[in-house]
Amino acid sequence: MAIKKILQEPNPILRQISKTVDKVTLDEQELMNNMYETMIAEKGIGLAAIQIGVPKRIIVIDIPKEENKRDPIYFVNPVIKNQSKDMSRYEEGCLSLKSVFVEVERPSFCEVEYLDYFGKKQNLKCDDLLATCIQHEMDHLNGVLMIDYLSKLKKSMLIKKLSKLKSKEDRVVL
Ligand code: ZN
Repeated sequence: MAIKKILQEPNPILRQISKTVDKVTLDEQELMNNMYETMIAEKGIGLAAIQIGVPKRIIVIDIPKEENKRDPIYFVNPVIKNQSKDMSRYEEGCLSLKSVFVEVERPSFCEVEYLDYFGKKQNLKCDDLLATCIQHEMDHLNGVLMIDYLSKLKKSMLIKKLSKLKSKEDRVVL
């Protein structure tokens, strides 16, 4: 396992549409292990493969129920089968948008079909935070970020701010 670098917005790779996985092989399992380790290291609860630069439709989510008890769910090629009309609002964060929080409204319930870590077909009913989280991560697979839910003006101001922060981070101090 290895901790990977998480891409930060603005970055055109984050806007790519990820590709469907043909088969879950050892390569995909290694990717999932790396994604999980990276997500835990950064204290996130969800991560999409594209956030570490791999355009495959793979997500890992781990919402801790108790401290020190980890139970990751791996989603390969997730598809939303059902969505509620009821909406929930959460203040969302994103590992690719550090220190940014955006209140996003999404369906409060959804049913997701996907392949698991072993390539087996699964179906999961998601509500509350899990529903929000899976929809946020599935947006990543389509090149969508949570800031896309903001007004155009707010979004462009935020991207300008992030670009400045990013160029500072890239500075080399000798
Ligand atoms: Zn995110």
